[in-house]
Amino acid sequence: MNLTFLKTKSDLDNWRKQSKNQPIHFVPTMGCLHQGHKALIKAAKFSSREQKTARVLVSIFVNPFQFAKGEDFSAYPRNLEQDYKTAINAGASAIWAPEFETLFPKGKENYFTIKAPSSLKKCLCGAHRKNHFDGVATIVLRLLNFVRPKQLYLGEKDWQQLVILRQLVKELGLQVEVRSIPTVRDQDGLAFSSRNKYLTTEERAKALTLPKLLLQESIQFQSNKEINLKKLFSTLEKNDLNVEYLETVDYKSLTPVNYYKTKFCLLAAAVHCGKTRLIDHIFLMNRKPIVAIDGPAGAGKSTVTKAFAKKMGLIYLDTGAMYRAVTWFIQKENINPDNEKELEKALKNLNIDIHLADSGIQHVIVNGKEISNEIRHPKVTATVSKIASKAVVREKLTAQQKFIGLKGGIVAEGRDIGTTVFPDAELKVFLTASSGERARRRANDLINQGFSVPNLQELENEIQERDKIDSTREIAPLVQAEDAKELVTDGMAIDQVIETLIRIFREEIPEEVWPSNEL
Ligand code: C5P
Repeated sequence: MNLTFLKTKSDLDNWRKQSKNQPIHFVPTMGCLHQGHKALIKAAKFSSREQKTARVLVSIFVNPFQFAKGEDFSAYPRNLEQDYKTAINAGASAIWAPEFETLFPKGKENYFTIKAPSSLKKCLCGAHRKNHFDGVATIVLRLLNFVRPKQLYLGEKDWQQLVILRQLVKELGLQVEVRSIPTVRDQDGLAFSSRNKYLTTEERAKALTLPKLLLQESIQFQSNKEINLKKLFSTLEKNDLNVEYLETVDYKSLTPVNYYKTKFCLLAAAVHCGKTRLIDHIFLMNRKPIVAIDGPAGAGKSTVTKAFAKKMGLIYLDTGAMYRAVTWFIQKENINPDNEKELEKALKNLNIDIHLADSGIQHVIVNGKEISNEIRHPKVTATVSKIASKAVVREKLTAQQKFIGLKGGIVAEGRDIGTTVFPDAELKVFLTASSGERARRRANDLINQGFSVPNLQELENEIQERDKIDSTREIAPLVQAEDAKELVTDGMAIDQVIETLIRIFREEIPEEVWPSNEL
């Protein structure tokens, strides 16, 4: 047996047993490998978030269940020998090409099937290819059970499939992390697909109209916030592309959307070019993505959010620093915060500028003076929650924060980001830890900043007091937004928290919308 060309279940089991301590990253395919598959294999091999180098397994199985009667199951291009070379050259450790009987030892009539949720398959390809996604889910679940990989790699090209398989993994609690990569395109813009092989030169030239028009549409959308599906439909038809569907749907729930009311939506199409069926899509975006990270004092938000922002290329906004800046200013000017008129007047003369330098150092500047260190003084910490509960203060800072985030591409941390400042953030995280753990972290922060450290009990009391003021105030209190994901960080190292944030960000935001420089 060639140790890297696996066929039977025992081939696979033997391969799995070798170097058990290396994680397996899995790329399921139907073969006829092209640049898109190669990109998946490379991403699986070089995923930089993995400490250990992974072993990449590529499966090749033309799944009969995902073809309807009259579709191209028997004509589907198959070339195992070439695929083997392509996969190994791209970095795969092995390929697995099981026979039908290996996956279904009890034969054609005796197997369990999975049904994809109807809400996810009633549109796009699901509406036109009966049983297609049930067939995909049935096979992929089976492959995952055989391979038991740490990570599963899928292309965003088949967006509906990706959404359905993510849901399958989540709902069935499968222990596998789903990673996706953006659609890979040929130089002329056509998305790579095994079916491109069917196209004649003339047809290929016509097929190019699809990506070209989708791109044009998304560029126009950015300026006039409108699309004209009817016109797009008829332009495709005029170019000899027979439109099967052309739809705008919510990119996560896949329900039809009124595109101009959402931040992101998916404009997707399937067309027939001669005998070849092609699919493609583009995301229409009103703005770049926003991440909101809220949580109580000392939960480690700043450290992890800053690192997360850097890794993901997002602007970092520390709103706590802004409340601290106001507090510092009020203390310096000897303003009585309980005198609303005096406070309001003082705020008119306050200009806060906040930015993170490339060095990773945050600069907080009030009326031209740098006060980045001063705002961390325990004297400021002791009063900031009281100042932050004042309506005029919140009004001023919330407006400034909304303005900073107008175009998106930002991660903001604070107490009311997901509920008040950016309630339409794509990802909301409520980062928390027990008060004991938070007191220990705060003590370390104080040591690092050169301040004296009170005893832990005192720090814990102070933190609890601040939590109480923050979560019971009338305006924009600290509460977990309904749609936020809670992340309890007790016992987690900083790197693990950052890693988790990146993972959940990736579950929410397609690589095509916000590519990470990691893959
Ligand atoms: O996060 P940090 O400890 O720097 O925040 C200081 C204080 O600022 C918090 O305890 C809270 O009272 C206030 N704050 C707020 N809303 C935010 C961020 C911070 O009220 N969005």
